[in-house]
Amino acid sequence: EVRVRFAPSPTGNLHVGGARTALFNYLFARSKGGKFVLRIEDTDLERSTRESEEAVLQDLTWLGLDWDEGPGVGGDYGPYRQSERNSLYKKYAEKLLESGHVYRCFCSSEELEKMKEIAKLKQLPPVYAGKWASATDAEVQEELEKGTPYTYRFRVPKQGSLKISDLIRGEVSWNLDTLGDFVIMRSNGQPVYNFCVTVDDATMAISHVIRAEEHLPNTLRQALIYKALGFTMPYFAHVSLILAPDRSKLSKRHGATSVGQYREMGYLPQGMVNYLALLGWGDGTENEFFTLEQLVEKFSIDRVNKSGAVFDSTKLRWMNGQHLRALPSEKMTKLIGERWKGTGILTESDGPFVDEAIQLLKDGIELVTDSDKVLSNLLSYPLHATLTSTECKAVIEDKLSEVAAALLAAFDGGEILGALEEGSAGWQKWVKSFGKAQKRKGKSLFMPLRVLLTGKLHGPEMASSMILIHKAGTLGIVAPQAG
Ligand code: GLU
Repeated sequence: EVRVRFAPSPTGNLHVGGARTALFNYLFARSKGGKFVLRIEDTDLERSTRESEEAVLQDLTWLGLDWDEGPGVGGDYGPYRQSERNSLYKKYAEKLLESGHVYRCFCSSEELEKMKEIAKLKQLPPVYAGKWASATDAEVQEELEKGTPYTYRFRVPKQGSLKISDLIRGEVSWNLDTLGDFVIMRSNGQPVYNFCVTVDDATMAISHVIRAEEHLPNTLRQALIYKALGFTMPYFAHVSLILAPDRSKLSKRHGATSVGQYREMGYLPQGMVNYLALLGWGDGTENEFFTLEQLVEKFSIDRVNKSGAVFDSTKLRWMNGQHLRALPSEKMTKLIGERWKGTGILTESDGPFVDEAIQLLKDGIELVTDSDKVLSNLLSYPLHATLTSTECKAVIEDKLSEVAAALLAAFDGGEILGALEEGSAGWQKWVKSFGKAQKRKGKSLFMPLRVLLTGKLHGPEMASSMILIHKAGTLGIVAPQAG
């Protein structure tokens, strides 16, 4: 059975890198009909907080990545917080002590420091070279009786190598001679991170460990512990780093890096999930638009790339626009309408206006928050104020002054507003007769009209724009303050 896990350390917000790891695990589980387990790695008691755990769960829920086992839902392999699994770690540590894979190390930190310095001077690898790896029972007994504190140290083979076959990176191998015996349990009884992860993955029957590349050095230690405990190793898949556009490691100085920040900025979970999936994966076609369901259908770990993926916030924004426009129109109206109501631009009774405005403006919106600016852009031209030739002159070239004068007359005479009252048909009729009188058609008619009436060279479809601007005027809808 396929069982994968996402194992966040609750020491901060969910980073986009973590979210992508969670997503790949989720997609793998769902595409294989397996289980997606959530485990909280709170062994670092100083840095782990419940608030941060809550925030991570909330972000995962927002993204739509529901877990089958873990906090809040339970499961047969719990508890799902490392801080609640201490007795299990103890049990396996004792087992390793009995089998001789682990020994008690009574070295004080001063002694260890000294050994490190000597190794450095001799240019030797910083491997444990103390006497406790080969101490006699009598020597150990003596220290135990004295009550000397001790750690549990894992006995690493002094030569040879270890190989794993990574599902993304292929064969990865390490020489063991430079690793040195490492601690799995501190003298205060606290188990060490790599040991906990191994015990957890094994006892939670995890079949595939999909995680970030930066955990590769841990994999070596974990693989040794697996072997020593006689557990079958899971498959490993190490996903490459997420890079900033300058190809350095993505960090706060490159802008927003947490899922929560994007949510607050108005991103949709659909857009976020789609973009995260493309960081290192693609279905092999040109297609880039995927819903979560489509991703489950298409995802395959073989297609995950081993080189670093560049995080491009402009593309994420664009992707979000794709998903925003793909929403059913009632949904989009609700999202944007609520926002406009919230900013005081609209009242309850302006409902139909919202629909029309959204239909007209949606191509220019990538984020819900953009809608203010886009609406403001459209409404910022004072159609209902009397146009003056100075205003017109500012926006047109001299050769248009003839049209400008006629237009001004039509406007001030109320002809244009009257046509707009009759909706699209009224407007079309007026444009036709105006064009005839001016002996203009096509671009040479529509460009000056657009510039004079909306104050801009480009914009959404003219008739609808005009009707909307007119409506906004009669409804008393004000242009939102952009920004
Ligand atoms: N707790 C680790 C982290 O937050 C993940 C460990 C793992 O996936 O093995 O980076």
